Amino acid sequence: MTPTTTESRPRILTGDTPTGRLHLGHWVGSVENRVALQDEYDCYFLVANMHAFTTRADKPDEIRESTLEIVKDWLACGVDPDKATVVLQSEIPAIVELSWYFAMLIPFNRVMRNPTLKTEIDAKGLGDHYSFGFPLYAVGQCADILVFRPELVPVGEDQVAHIEMTREVARRFNQVYCGVDPQTEDADYVNAGGLFPIPRAKVGRVARLPGTDGVNKMSKSLNNAIFLTDTPKQVKKKLGQLYTGRQGMDEPGDTTNSLFQYVRAFIHDEARVRELEDRYAKGDNIGDGHVKAEVAEAISGLLAPMQDRRARYDTPGGEDEIIDVIRAGIAKATPVAEQTLERAKLAMKLDFTPRTISFA
Ligand code: ATP
Ligand code: MG
Repeated sequence: MTPTTTESRPRILTGDTPTGRLHLGHWVGSVENRVALQDEYDCYFLVANMHAFTTRADKPDEIRESTLEIVKDWLACGVDPDKATVVLQSEIPAIVELSWYFAMLIPFNRVMRNPTLKTEIDAKGLGDHYSFGFPLYAVGQCADILVFRPELVPVGEDQVAHIEMTREVARRFNQVYCGVDPQTEDADYVNAGGLFPIPRAKVGRVARLPGTDGVNKMSKSLNNAIFLTDTPKQVKKKLGQLYTGRQGMDEPGDTTNSLFQYVRAFIHDEARVRELEDRYAKGDNIGDGHVKAEVAEAISGLLAPMQDRRARYDTPGGEDEIIDVIRAGIAKATPVAEQTLERAKLAMKLDFTPRTISFA
């Protein structure tokens, strides 16, 4: 297959699992970066709908619904489908094929030691009842990323361990199948004949936004999220429940608490942030309720234009528009992914007969 793109911009891949709607953690951790970088980079944003099945195999309706909601959320945030490619994971067979080969390049115990997987197993209460596919998703994610051969992966902090595993797999593939010297610097792997660049994680402005429980990271599946679709009233109510441990407005407060992480994440007037921090730390006549109201206002100000943009898709014809975006993304992503797979199979001596995938 010949390259179908003359794209010369460096490439980005990142994405979300459709286990619910997008929340503020997604925005500050990753989506804000995606929107900012879509002019400069050739962007691929993946809906990891197959990974949603790892914990919700019995809920296909919910996964389908969330898939459409996530794409709506992206467009609402300012992702422009004319600039960036929306990739639906389940429609890109090259990802699954590469996952299988990558699974041989990484020891089983290495996958099980991945700290992000361990945290997820705890936080989601999976105990020892998780599916075989659950840890496998971490290997699958290496393929999601590497099939697009990106340089950069904008993610929140919790994903850095996955990107590290991806980097290990990329190095190993390049060494085993492309003959690259293991002493090679990460930045030189492609010049040294490797197929895969060693991608770097780009962590967002806020690496880990806590949820409204004040403890865990804000997460779709933990019931502690402020969603991008929440009304000002809902935002206010959820922030009102944030536990700070402080008693009164004359008591010194801890500005490392989750409330002040929100202050720094969402109030953009630096002088005002310093003033709030100062008065809170001293217990200078400033109540939690006041700070919460100010943060709620800033958050709702951020969300209002997103909700306006989203309204267009929450109409009877809106779903068709989203499906058109998904279809166009599949058509653009497939040749890129197929080309990588073809090159990988060639390197692995699996080039018996070339195949072409065609689209109606
Ligand atoms: P789930 O609970 O199903 O794991 P999630 O809320 O963790 O969902 P993901 O789809 O796993 O969301 O993550 C998508 C992207 O958003 C990742 O890059 C992740 O690091 C980032 N992200 C998610 N939550 C946060 C957060 N609270 N702070 C910063 N970044 C986050
Ligand atoms: Mg997650």
